Amino acid sequence: MIFAANFKCNHTRSSTQSYISTLSELIKSDTSHECFVFPPATALLASTPNVTIGVQNAYMAQNGAYTGEIGLEQLDEFGIKTILIGHSERREILGESQEIVAKKFQYFTENGFKIIYCIGEPLEIRESGFDSVMEYLTEQFIGIDINYPNLIVAYEPIWAIGTGRSATIDEITITHKALKSIVSVPLLYGGSVNLSNIKEISSIDEVDGVLVGSASLDAVKFYELIRSC
Ligand code: PEP
Repeated sequence: MIFAANFKCNHTRSSTQSYISTLSELIKSDTSHECFVFPPATALLASTPNVTIGVQNAYMAQNGAYTGEIGLEQLDEFGIKTILIGHSERREILGESQEIVAKKFQYFTENGFKIIYCIGEPLEIRESGFDSVMEYLTEQFIGIDINYPNLIVAYEPIWAIGTGRSATIDEITITHKALKSIVSVPLLYGGSVNLSNIKEISSIDEVDGVLVGSASLDAVKFYELIRSC
């Protein structure tokens, strides 16, 4: 299983450092899972042998006049080669269009990054039926090279993110099955994953891992999630 922790705009540089040393220590001999942590950009640090550090976002440039952004040069300093692209909070709150997301995707593929590419539909689309859901999700692959070898896809229904209301086991199973007929890469589920639902979610055949926000913020609790699979 793949476990990815998305801190979003949480944690400081020092709390991230102690989080990573705690988590690395806890999972040190457990090689059965792959673990990623995405801290805020100010708290980037080098990966450890069992925890890969990735960046939540970056600009598609080496460096330059892009106020407020970080580029390849800044990521290189920490040896970062993993990035989240297309998270719904960046699409919805920061206004990243599919065109920008696709450009970013292309830039980071050209630079050999591992990409966790996020897709997910809003509630009104989910409520208008499964065909609409799949049409919406398929559009989020426009401009994306789904055959990129270093790709992981994360399906995260927007209505399940940070709401405490995860998608049901049936909804996840059916959606992941349909997505697996489009992409043949590891497929994560994200959206209110926690200790009470991880067992059931991780036992779905088409779920290769999880992307976790709130329930990842405490290293010991995140490890509990990992250990329970
Ligand atoms: C996320 O933002 O990627 C996420 C899944 O958040 P949460 O686990 O808090 O729903």
